[in-house]
Amino acid sequence: MQEKKIITILGSTGSIGTQALEVIEQMGSAFQIGYLSAHNNIKLLAKQIAKFNPLGVVVKNEKDAVEIKKLIDTSCKILYSEAGLIEAASDDRNDIVLVALVGFSGVLPTLSAIEHCRTICLANKETLVSAGAIVMEKAKQFKSNIIAVDSEHNAILQCLIGEEKSSIEKIILTASGGPFLNIPFEDNPNLSLKNALEHPKWTMGSKITIDSATMMNKGFELIEAKWLFDLGQEKIDVLVHPQSIVHSLVQFVDGSVKAQLGNPNMRIPISFAINFPKRYKFDFPRLDLAEISKLDFFKPDLKKFRCLALAYEAMKIGGNSCTIINAANEVAVNSFLKSKIQFLDIAKHIEIALNKINIIRNPSLDDIIETNLETRSFTEKLIN
Ligand code: NDP
Ligand code: MG
Repeated sequence: MQEKKIITILGSTGSIGTQALEVIEQMGSAFQIGYLSAHNNIKLLAKQIAKFNPLGVVVKNEKDAVEIKKLIDTSCKILYSEAGLIEAASDDRNDIVLVALVGFSGVLPTLSAIEHCRTICLANKETLVSAGAIVMEKAKQFKSNIIAVDSEHNAILQCLIGEEKSSIEKIILTASGGPFLNIPFEDNPNLSLKNALEHPKWTMGSKITIDSATMMNKGFELIEAKWLFDLGQEKIDVLVHPQSIVHSLVQFVDGSVKAQLGNPNMRIPISFAINFPKRYKFDFPRLDLAEISKLDFFKPDLKKFRCLALAYEAMKIGGNSCTIINAANEVAVNSFLKSKIQFLDIAKHIEIALNKINIIRNPSLDDIIETNLETRSFTEKLIN
């Protein structure tokens, strides 16, 4: 009998984390759970402990560690804070670490996982946006394989199987365009928080849902693709495709194009990532192209979606500039979620931060951490 693989899921109470646990549950006995982690939702974490019997869990702080102990009747290890996430990620028993944390919080646990584990399934794109050069260098050094969970990058990975890197002419990331695709931005009272949270195709955590409405999500995915596939900016295009059926495409030097298609269902890229390079049989609803009948594609409007233009700009500047736009975006989106700023202010604040914070050409990890803190504090002051 094949031995069970140990999988740790950082961010197990989130949208990706819970779907990953559903996939694992459907697979029966293929995996044993290493660590799980929660930030605010310790009640859900307690339920996950009862169901999946992990080796350990990570919570936000010492108080929650005491609290969770009262909620469970098993003796799993209880860790807390960022140090706890790093310890969980560095447990040598892990065969796979799935990083489904949101924002910059993924950076240090991912780096620690790379040093100790051969397979990292990375959903947390902000880690590559903030510290892509350092993460990819470390992965090379420790021979750790970074497998993208993000549907577009997962699609490209699927298209590249059996292909040589020199055969790639360009990759094309598709974008749904989010809830505001066909809504004009000027003087529009409909750019409300409620409307921004209603994504037409995907049900996701609140932060990435707002990033989709501003299209900063696609900007981050450009940066993510650059690092994952080691391609120059000129080789990565974006196409708006509102149906979200074609998840991304690769154009090759002979003019041939490969695409990966499927219903918008994150369980598919999650299962592909955690089972890579094998496929596991699932009975998710099948794609019915005859029923869909029509697929649309067009270029994004960079004047309207200023966040996407800012991501292109930051990519061009390089250095720590992507760390800056990520940190400013995290603060601005959080403020929008708390109704402290308007939708269109998100891009404005990011632009101010990008123009004000010092650019460092070849940032070290310490520079990246410092840039993140400095930009957050700058943007918070700006908003308050
Ligand atoms: P969620 O907000 O749904 O989940 C985030 C998870 O991280 C939760 O477990 C949350 O805990 C935990 N968390 C939040 N803040 C912190 C923190 N500061 N420190 C430690 N843990 C924290 O996000 P998603 O699952 O939607 O997204 C996760 C990542 O995957 C993001 O980077 C996103 O861009 C990416 N992604 C998501 C997709 C999706 O379909 N959802 C698709 C493609 C990429 P708690 O809930 O207990 O507070
Ligand atoms: Mg995506």
